[in-house]
Parts: sequence; C-alpha cells; structure tokens
Amino acid sequence: MNDYLENLDRALSKLPEIKGSGERFVVPEPRLLTEGKTTVLENFAAIADRLNREPEHLFKFLLKELGTAGKLEGSRAIFHGRFTSGVVAELIDAYIKEYVTCSECGRPDTHLIKVDRILTLRCDACGAHRPVAKRQAAVIVKAEALTEGEIYEVRIDAVGSKGDGIAKKDKYTIYVPGTSKGDTVKIKIKKIAGNLAFAEIAAEKKA
Ligand SMILES: [Zn+2]
Repeated sequence: MNDYLENLDRALSKLPEIKGSGERFVVPEPRLLTEGKTTVLENFAAIADRLNREPEHLFKFLLKELGTAGKLEGSRAIFHGRFTSGVVAELIDAYIKEYVTCSECGRPDTHLIKVDRILTLRCDACGAHRPVAKRQAAVIVKAEALTEGEIYEVRIDAVGSKGDGIAKKDKYTIYVPGTSKGDTVKIKIKKIAGNLAFAEIAAEKKA
C-alpha cells in the first residue's frame, strides 16, 4: 500500500497541470439517471457551459459516439438506450481532448472557428491552432478497459523521472518499475486510479 501511495504521488506530480485563466479546469462529473429506456444526462448544460462550447455541438458528438438518438430538454440531454456514467465520462474526456484543449500548451482557453471550411481549434492562451480531426464513431465506447489483477502485454515507451518504465494502453498511462524503454513485457495490473495504472512485471522480458 505504501508503495502504491508513493507511486501515485509520483505519478500525480507528473501530470500536466491544466489551467485556464489562473483557475483549475474542472469539468463537472456527468450525473446520469435512467428513465425507462432512456438515459438522462442531468447536468448536460453545466458541462457544455464549463467547456465553453455550443451545447448542440457537444450533444451531436455524444449522439454520434453513442450511436443513438436523443433530444435536449432544458438543461438535460436525453439519450435513447442505457449508458453507464463511465462511458459518458470517457466520451466527454474524448470531446475535451479533441475539441477543447490546446494540443500545444494543454490549456482549455480555446475556441472553434472555421478556416477555409475546416473546423479549427484556436488557442487563446498560446495562439496555436490545429484542424479538428474527424473521429471514427464509437471507437471510445469499444476501447478496452484495464482490469486490476489482469495480465497484459505492453511496450515500454518511456521512462519516468524516478526510473519507472511507462507504457500507454488505450487511455491509460501504466507505470512498470524495473523496465526499460523499448522493452515488451507482460505486466500484471496492481492498481488503477483514473487513467493511471500501476503494474508489476508478470513475465520475463523478451529479448
Ligand atoms: Zn495553447
């Protein structure tokens, strides 16, 4: 447990700090409830407002990714079908990554404009801009989730400042002590905290 806390501390200290106009960029957690065969995102308007994006734009994105129909009703969004808050939270994260945060400086102080008919994300903080990619529908929904105690094969892409190997898998950043950059290793997931995972080597490294 101590090890884990130490690892977590270490990992958190490496996270990029996302700041907008001096305040921390905190997006409200999606609040979902199921009504019959529909899923209601109760605080949809608050989320769109925090992201500073047109509610319709966020709503269309969610519909497309969830592969369903729905409607906006006051401050709520209603989707046909049942969806977990985990899936919706992941999609909102994906939306933020694609349509809100600057890929240069990581700040959320951006706006969307059309440049030669191409939807472009322009950063108010650093001036960077990039075209917004066309996403494949429903990729995120299908993304594999890691499970504690399970074994996965990963490639160590980087080494952290304290010497732990770091692998990326789906949305996860996985810390694997005792590995080196370029290793392909079988790992066992010990602990998952949000998008961070802590693992140990489960099998010998491949040469
Ligand atoms: Zn920027």
